[in-house]
Amino acid sequence: MDIIVCIKQVPDTTEVKIDPKTNTLIRQGVPSIVNPFDKNAVEAALRLKEQHGGKVTVLSMGPPQANDALKECLAMGADEAILISDRAFGGADTLATSYTLAAAIRKLGHYDIIICGKQAIDGDTAQVGPEIAEHLGIVQLTYIAKIEVNGKTVRVNREHETAYEVIEAKLPVLISAVKSLNVPRYPTVKGILRAVRAKIGVYTAKDLDVEPDCLGLKGSATQVREIFTPPQRTQGILIRKDSAGGAVEELMQKLTDAKIV
Ligand SMILES: Cc1cc2nc3c(=O)[nH]c(=O)nc-3n(C[C@H](O)[C@H](O)[C@H](O)COP(=O)(O)OP(=O)(O)OC[C@H]3O[C@@H](n4cnc5c(N)ncnc54)[C@H](O)[C@@H]3O)c2cc1C
Repeated sequence: MDIIVCIKQVPDTTEVKIDPKTNTLIRQGVPSIVNPFDKNAVEAALRLKEQHGGKVTVLSMGPPQANDALKECLAMGADEAILISDRAFGGADTLATSYTLAAAIRKLGHYDIIICGKQAIDGDTAQVGPEIAEHLGIVQLTYIAKIEVNGKTVRVNREHETAYEVIEAKLPVLISAVKSLNVPRYPTVKGILRAVRAKIGVYTAKDLDVEPDCLGLKGSATQVREIFTPPQRTQGILIRKDSAGGAVEELMQKLTDAKIV
């Protein structure tokens, strides 16, 4: 079974700062990690490979430093890693990102399952996975908490707030992984040594069958006008009474005093 996992290198969120002039993330000096949901995606791919055989390829679009994230996935056990990197991809929104990732997947050729994280913890849109499926014209199964493959069919549990939806689909499919799918493994020493020695393939724009106008900022349908932290909300008033009736009475009094009612 050929499995492709799309992973994004993201800044450690507790450290994120926005440049107020450019409206982009300040990445210098900020530690980077593999997007946590993408680690669930890699773990799922490795387990499927252990059950059914095959190959796990990890893909990331980003600057050369994203190599570190790819190496971490190789250390977990992925077979091959490809970095999609070119100045032409810079400033891509989700549409241009998914277009480029889909082109790289087409170049890889055969695949049975593509797994993404449910969302990236920096961009947070959860759009890239479904958009890749649209570009490739394949079924998308989002927010997946369990995956079972039987021959050419996949059966998944799709996570809802209070229930699971069980869905069956024919391969190939794109799956987006939630946290409850699994617990990602730690790399072994052997895996780390293998990853250090591994050569990561690179796809640039000229390696892909793409329209230049669909890449990067040029190919982006959206533009970030402003990013700001909303003003802190003023603290509310907590009404503590022994009875609901007493609380309602006091609430009505406060609303009347404030001339709201
Ligand atoms: C006008 C504009 C300019 C932007 N410029 C920049 C910029 O200069 N630099 C920048 O870093 N961001 C930029 N962004 C943000 C960019 O849109 C997102 O980084 C990217 O499209 C992914 O969206 P997301 O983070 O919401 O991912 P989501 O859709 O939340 O991610 C879902 C899943 O898709 C996969 N995925 C997402 N991104 C990648 C990737 N790059 N490689 C492999 N798999 C991936 C992962 O599996 C991930 O878990 C820009 C956005 C806009 C609108």
